[in-house]
Amino acid sequence: GCGICVKKCPFEAINIINLPKDLERNTTHRYGPNSFKLHRLPMPRPGQVLGLVGTNGIGKSTALKILAGKMKPNLGRYDSPPDWEEILVHFRGSELQNYFTKVLEDTLKATIKPQYVDHIPRAIKGKVGEILKMKDDRSEAEGKDVLGWALREAELEHLVDRDIRVLSGGELQRFAISAVAVQISDVYMFDEPSSYLDVKQRLTAAAMIREILEATNGDRRFVMVVEHDLAVLDYLSDFVCVLYGQAGGYGVVTMPHSVRTGINAFLAGFIHSENLRFRDHALSFKVSERAEEEKKVDIMKAYSYPDMTKTQSRDKSKFILHVDKGEFTDSEIIVLLGENGTGKTTFVRMLAGLLKSDEQVKFEEEGYDYEASQAGVPDLNVSYKPQKISPKFQGTVRQLLHKRIRDSYVHPQFISDVMKPLVIDNIIDNGVQTLSGGELQRLAIVLALGKPADVYLIDEPSAYLDSEQRINCAKVIKRFIMHSKKTAFVVEHDFIMATYLADRVVVYHGNPGVEATASAPQSLLTGMNQFLKSLKVTFRRDPTNFRPRINKKGSQKDCEQKKNGNYFFYD
Ligand code: ADP
Ligand code: ADP
Ligand code: MG
Ligand code: MG
Repeated sequence: GCGICVKKCPFEAINIINLPKDLERNTTHRYGPNSFKLHRLPMPRPGQVLGLVGTNGIGKSTALKILAGKMKPNLGRYDSPPDWEEILVHFRGSELQNYFTKVLEDTLKATIKPQYVDHIPRAIKGKVGEILKMKDDRSEAEGKDVLGWALREAELEHLVDRDIRVLSGGELQRFAISAVAVQISDVYMFDEPSSYLDVKQRLTAAAMIREILEATNGDRRFVMVVEHDLAVLDYLSDFVCVLYGQAGGYGVVTMPHSVRTGINAFLAGFIHSENLRFRDHALSFKVSERAEEEKKVDIMKAYSYPDMTKTQSRDKSKFILHVDKGEFTDSEIIVLLGENGTGKTTFVRMLAGLLKSDEQVKFEEEGYDYEASQAGVPDLNVSYKPQKISPKFQGTVRQLLHKRIRDSYVHPQFISDVMKPLVIDNIIDNGVQTLSGGELQRLAIVLALGKPADVYLIDEPSAYLDSEQRINCAKVIKRFIMHSKKTAFVVEHDFIMATYLADRVVVYHGNPGVEATASAPQSLLTGMNQFLKSLKVTFRRDPTNFRPRINKKGSQKDCEQKKNGNYFFYD
């Protein structure tokens, strides 16, 4: 052992080269014997957004709960917790002393948007409009219609009379963000606000969170955000603290950094100012190599589909998807970009042969079998990772792998290309029913890629994954598709992941939930320009690790790029 850690040595476990020596003295909280330990705390600054970045299980939510006063830190002494007096002494000399003093005196009110929005309906009951109206005390205090603003921005106007029990994940998320944003508070915390949201909604959520600081007294408010979509975190934050350590073992909070330095440090696995390496490799992602030059279109396309329509109707509501005819070939990844409710999943299900186009159905009913076969997607051998994963399988991960992808999961290439990077070995003997969201997602990706097919359909792979897992997962999919010379269609809202994956893109336009059109697959540059133009945002690339960064609205780069029509570009 190294003398710092009691049980598992982090030096051996993840090759930390130089863990700070004073960690033990800086234990903020420990849940119990041999359980997770949090070292240090991030300190928010008034009038600024503090972003927290780190893997799952590293203590981000724990840190928020402590700073919100919802959990009393035990300084590592789970068996004999200190009283507040002692805790204040522990933080003496730092801004945290002042902060906790106010928490104690009840002069600092904190409000959290919880990580798991799905649990909200268990805690509160009622209709969207009623609950928000009850929470809204900013309108009166600030003399403006904050509630109306929130309903409009969060696209909740049509949902005010809806019981929160029937909301979708994305609707609940927007409701939860609004419920925090309309309250008067000193500390506003948002734990993973982008889950379930599409790119447009993520940008709006970011703007709503930033608005909190622009209001009266905004310069005295604290805002903290935990976020795994690094483009969103980057756009949203004024400064960043990185959390590193060993998932489930311990977490350490770094000093505050500028947004760019902090996120780049997280990706590099190296904190320059502390001369500390916490990962033995850097995470980098050059945007799709082939994106640089427009891919030649004269190569033979292996597959094609005709113009199609799909009407989805339930009760009185109806959704119509138009699909422009398109072609695709092997060794390429096509990313589907569009708002929620524009029919991405519908299209993927058509490709999977699970849904027939209206034209197919009509020809079949009339008995024209040949026409029917030409009026939809060709018969493809597909493997499909659905957006919603809820396995009923009762055994272990190993048993499920054996049942579903018997040949692949023992194949050396598959093990090294897919299973290893998705770290399946540490859950392989767990019961499938006991897996966390992120673990299930990794398993679902393995199962999808393990099934022999010509076309892989992967719907929202980044859901429940942390930023590091997202990058690993994107690399796994990319490598797998290139090596196996297959095609993949991927639905993805994490901008960094989407641009890394995409060779070409399908862009959705229209009216969510009502009627929309899917474009033919087009080049990354053309498609992204179209998509970003509709969102009114421009991107640049970080010179260090090539990650895409959203330009601040109205910045010189933003204006220039908009003028030249270069919404998405590489320099
Ligand atoms: P993050 O938000 O970074 O994913 P959390 O702060 O939620 O991480 O959790 C950090 C670690 O602490 C995890 O390993 C988690 O299982 C553990 N943990 C969280 N809450 C408790 C608790 N009440 N009792 C014991 N362990 C906990
Ligand atoms: P996306 O994946 O882009 O979010 P979907 O393809 O899931 O969009 O859904 C598009 C629209 O079609 C949504 O408004 C959804 O409510 C509606 N829809 C999806 N499936 C059905 C169905 N079986 N019956 C009626 N409406 C449906
Ligand atoms: Mg968390
Ligand atoms: Mg979908």
